[in-house]
Amino acid sequence: MKVLISVDIEGIAGFVSWKQCDAGSPQYRQSIDLMTGEANAAIAGAFDGGATEVVVVDSHGSQRNMSPLEIDQRVRLISGGNKPLSMMQGIDESFDAVFLVGYHAGAGFTGSLSHTYDGTPSVVRLNGMQAGEIMVNAAVAGYFGVPVALVTGDTAAMREAQSSLAGVEIAEVKEPISRYSSNNLSPTAAREKIRKAAASALAKIGGMEPFTLEPPIHFNLTFTNVGIADRVCLMPGTRREDPLTVSYESDDYITAYQGFLTMLVLADSAG
Ligand SMILES: [Zn+2]
Repeated sequence: MKVLISVDIEGIAGFVSWKQCDAGSPQYRQSIDLMTGEANAAIAGAFDGGATEVVVVDSHGSQRNMSPLEIDQRVRLISGGNKPLSMMQGIDESFDAVFLVGYHAGAGFTGSLSHTYDGTPSVVRLNGMQAGEIMVNAAVAGYFGVPVALVTGDTAAMREAQSSLAGVEIAEVKEPISRYSSNNLSPTAAREKIRKAAASALAKIGGMEPFTLEPPIHFNLTFTNVGIADRVCLMPGTRREDPLTVSYESDDYITAYQGFLTMLVLADSAG
């Protein structure tokens, strides 16, 4: 059984501030310990549950946060930026399950450190549904016929996961109080919970369905100012829905997803 584990950072127990997520911050060393600890718990649980091959994708920011020396030595680690499938790089039809570890609520939802990808859109809609990284990435896995079996993060992320992914296993490691405060499990308790949930997710994998969407696939991004929307409209094929909202459509999910990633790059460069 082959498992791909995408590891983000904002949904890890103990994270309440963007400063903890920033590679330039004095707290970053501790942040990587916390991230790697939960990643290793999910890996251990995957092997407990019968996985024979595990691939880990470092999915936060520069996407090269975790040290190859500190990650469980049984896995392959996909690390580094500019990957065509970004947080889901490595996924293909040969996998049996995907885990999303350290995930968080999407832009425009309440929840600890809520945002979608680089944080420039204030709301992302996918085929009309307000979407965060859980739904967007579950659909990448679904394109290849692979179900998301486990999602870990705060209560809000768990709610998002369960609303779109029937039967998904969850491990809730913190309760958000506001976007920048939460009531956290200890790292030890969070890791134990994730390890158990990972093993039980694989036991239930037979009953889980890949998350798929009916084409045409429609990404609709709302920004905080018209200058960003102007910039994003430089991408061929986009449509200005209103002063702050730009959309992109394709019959193919991966084409639509890569269009979405490109819109984010343009948005980020809007100044
Ligand atoms: Zn994220």
